[in-house]
This record gives sequence, structure tokens and C-alpha cells, in this order.
Amino acid sequence: MSAKRRVIILGGGIGGIEAAIALSRKAGVSLTLVDPNAVHVWKPALHEFAAGTLNFEENVFSFEKLSKKFKFNFIQGAPSSIDRQAKSVKLSDGQTLEYDYLIVSIGGVQMILAHQGQKRIASF
Ligand SMILES: Cc1cc2nc3c(=O)[nH]c(=O)nc-3n(C[C@H](O)[C@H](O)[C@H](O)COP(=O)(O)OP(=O)(O)OC[C@H]3O[C@@H](n4cnc5c(N)ncnc54)[C@H](O)[C@@H]3O)c2cc1C
Repeated sequence: MSAKRRVIILGGGIGGIEAAIALSRKAGVSLTLVDPNAVHVWKPALHEFAAGTLNFEENVFSFEKLSKKFKFNFIQGAPSSIDRQAKSVKLSDGQTLEYDYLIVSIGGVQMILAHQGQKRIASF
């Protein structure tokens, strides 16, 4: 039997979690998700949470629980470097993870156009 393919997902936002759930259904995959936070935040509902129409628990999901449910390894940490030749990711705690496939899904930055105050007072 061939060895499991090691997949590392950096970032457990919507993209990372969707990838983890989809890959968890595949045989022969060893899956590790890395995120600096302990929880997945469902961003599309943040405004409802802020407005008080949604409870905290309905908007935020523990990676620990998600990893048990969907059978992936979770590491709370941040990558400090990626070595594409060696196919490895170094975390800021010094740990090195080797991969066969790497998914980088760490979100994006907002484009602030004309409204200079937006970044300071109105951005998530
Ligand atoms: C209020 C609000 C409402 C929205 N409504 C909608 C909507 O109705 N429909 C829609 O399609 N989209 C909506 N969006 C946009 C949607 O939430 C984003 O497009 C989506 O979250 C992007 O997913 P992502 O996985 O790329 O990034 P994110 O969901 O932002 O996740 C990024 C993840 O990466 C982690 N991370 C960050 N840095 C690192 C690092 N260095 N290493 C490892 N992990 C890292 C973060 O902790 C986070 O878990 C909304 C967004 C907001 C804020």
C-alpha cells in the first residue's frame, strides 16, 4: 500500500476549512491545518454578531472540535517560512512540517479606495 499523501493547509478560514472538509473525505490523505487562532470565524455573519442578532457560538467554531469531526490534525501556530524545494513549512515555534501538497489560504487584505478613514474605523 502506498504512503499517505501529506497535505498541509495554511489558514482555517472559509477556503481552508472547505478544503479540509473536502479532502477529509478522500482516502490516502494525511491532512494538517495550521492557523494562528484556536477558532474558525465565519466572517459573512460578523455583522450579525456585531449587531447582537447572532450568538458567539453560532459564528465561531473551535478548530479542535472541527478537526475531530472531520479527522484532520490541527496545529495552532503561524508559518514563518516555506521551503518549496524541500516541500516543508517552518512554524514560528521552530517546528518543521513536510508536505506533498500545500494549500495556502490565509485570507487577503482589503483594498481601501477613496475612504481613508475606513481602515481605521470600519474594517474587520
Ligand atoms: C462582514 C462580512 C460579510 C461578508 N459577507 C459575505 C457574503 O455574504 N458572501 C461572500 O461570498 N463573502 C462574504 N464575505 C467575504 C468572505 O468572508 C471572505 O471572502 C472569505 O472569508 C475569504 O475566505 P478565506 O479563506 O480566503 O479567508 P478568511 O476567511 O479571511 O480566513 C483566513 C484564515 O487564515 C488565517 N491566517 C491569517 N494569517 C495566517 C498565517 N500567516 N498563517 C496561517 N493562517 C493564517 C486566519 O486566522 C483565518 O482563519 C464577507 C466578509 C465580511 C467581513
